[in-house]
Amino acid sequence: MTSSKYTTNEAGIPVSSDEHSLSVGADGPIVMHDHYLMEQMAAFNREMIPDRQPHAKGSGAFGHFEVTQDVSKYTKAKFLQPGTKTDVLIRFSTVAGESGSPDTWRDPRGFSIKFYTDEGNFDMVGNNTPVFFVRDPMKFQHFIHSQKRRADNGLRDHDMQWDFWTLAPESAHQVAWLMGDRGVPATWRHMNGYSSHTYMWVNDEGERFWVKYHFKTDQGIKCMTQEQADQMAGSDADYHRRDLFEAIERGDYPTWTLQMQIMPFEDAKTYRINPFDLTKIWPHDDYPLIEVGKLTLNRNPTDFHSEIEQAAFEPNNSVPGTGFSPDKMLLARVISYADAHRARLGVNYKHIPVNAPKCPVHSYSQGGAMRIKHSTDPVYTPNSKGGAKADPERFPEDAVWSTDGQLVRSAYTLRPNDDDWSQAHALVRQVMDDEQRDRLVSNVVGHLSGGVTEPVLERAFEYWRNIDQEVGERIEKGVRGS
Ligand code: NDP
Repeated sequence: MTSSKYTTNEAGIPVSSDEHSLSVGADGPIVMHDHYLMEQMAAFNREMIPDRQPHAKGSGAFGHFEVTQDVSKYTKAKFLQPGTKTDVLIRFSTVAGESGSPDTWRDPRGFSIKFYTDEGNFDMVGNNTPVFFVRDPMKFQHFIHSQKRRADNGLRDHDMQWDFWTLAPESAHQVAWLMGDRGVPATWRHMNGYSSHTYMWVNDEGERFWVKYHFKTDQGIKCMTQEQADQMAGSDADYHRRDLFEAIERGDYPTWTLQMQIMPFEDAKTYRINPFDLTKIWPHDDYPLIEVGKLTLNRNPTDFHSEIEQAAFEPNNSVPGTGFSPDKMLLARVISYADAHRARLGVNYKHIPVNAPKCPVHSYSQGGAMRIKHSTDPVYTPNSKGGAKADPERFPEDAVWSTDGQLVRSAYTLRPNDDDWSQAHALVRQVMDDEQRDRLVSNVVGHLSGGVTEPVLERAFEYWRNIDQEVGERIEKGVRGS
């Protein structure tokens, strides 16, 4: 029987059976030159690529970002000019779990966006929280290790997590946020996304601003209680992935409104809080939110592996009119993300269609494993053969700042309001209401009761008393039972 859609091997050659390997007679051994069987077994053995380390479990969707307001006095970036519509890809994720782990484990969520702009890809590698656990990249690897698994038994360990957190008091703000309601979003559609880091914008006149991106959910904030999250982890580990996919399938497209906090360049020098410290927010009273536009997700992936698993976001993807800040964590991520993608996907990962820019590329890189785009002559610069030339008019080095000092290994210079506790205290005491605070206490008591030992336990009570005396006392009472 001939069929119009027939199985082939990877070379496009028709195969003669989907069911039987080649053997010496029906009952004899299979033969080694059954290369089609070999091709299938070999491909299968190589299907899995390494998990991301961290942010392994996640999913995403495509859509667009449309600028509805005029922020041209702050940035010349073309994709941020009034009325501009830009295609985007988003990936949401948990941080500590592996690729099969439950979506509803308490954890920050990744909120990464790739804008396919006319001036090259712009990526925001954000989270659903405005702050982070550490402020120096030297600590990042250790922090993630403490959230993952022990060396001896391969188990996750609350004792290890609190040991790290209580010895790194700069984590207090993020831990207070994590243990509150927003530590388990109801769905990815019902959470905000934040750049967390401070970035720079530059306008047409070369005027510079420090900025923070806030993508506020238009679906409203919804969270799960610890009980709901635990139940969901057992009944549908992929709940958040499923929810996003099904919402888009039924045409219920989630949207977020981009609002910015914008700080004039000179303010940073005298602001009472280090504006580049990733463990701190800028209070809205100081820098109110300024609306920019709307982000809509309206297209699901059709091949999870090639479009989501191989999606590579990197904060170094920064286009004219945007730039970095002296946030040490950001400056490390600017190097580290691309390195992670090279390690995980290979040097030519930007040739994978989901990572490829939608504007012309005239780079001089060539070769490398899995290169699929043609290199063209001349392959060197300078040249007199019509090759591309850098154009400083297109991307002047204007997103810059000046600094001076000896090479040191040091904490940031402290400013008047740079303590580790007061913003965590504001969250717990001023932002949360009584019911939210009750749930916070219950969540922490449950977490600390899950295997945390002395002296870490005593340090955890002190840590919480530093955040809020009453909350700390209630937590100690809840754990010690008196
Ligand atoms: P505001 O009262 O102006 O803002 C409070 C913010 O807290 C809002 O953005 C709100 O988000 C968010 N929020 C509300 N409930 C919770 C919760 N249970 N967990 C986490 N966030 C919540 O105050 P300030 O700007 O002066 O900041 C006070 C504290 O609020 C900060 O110390 C920080 O912990 C927290 N916060 C501040 C943000 C900022 O960028 N300034 C951003 C997010 C949190 P929404 O409006 O979307 O409900």
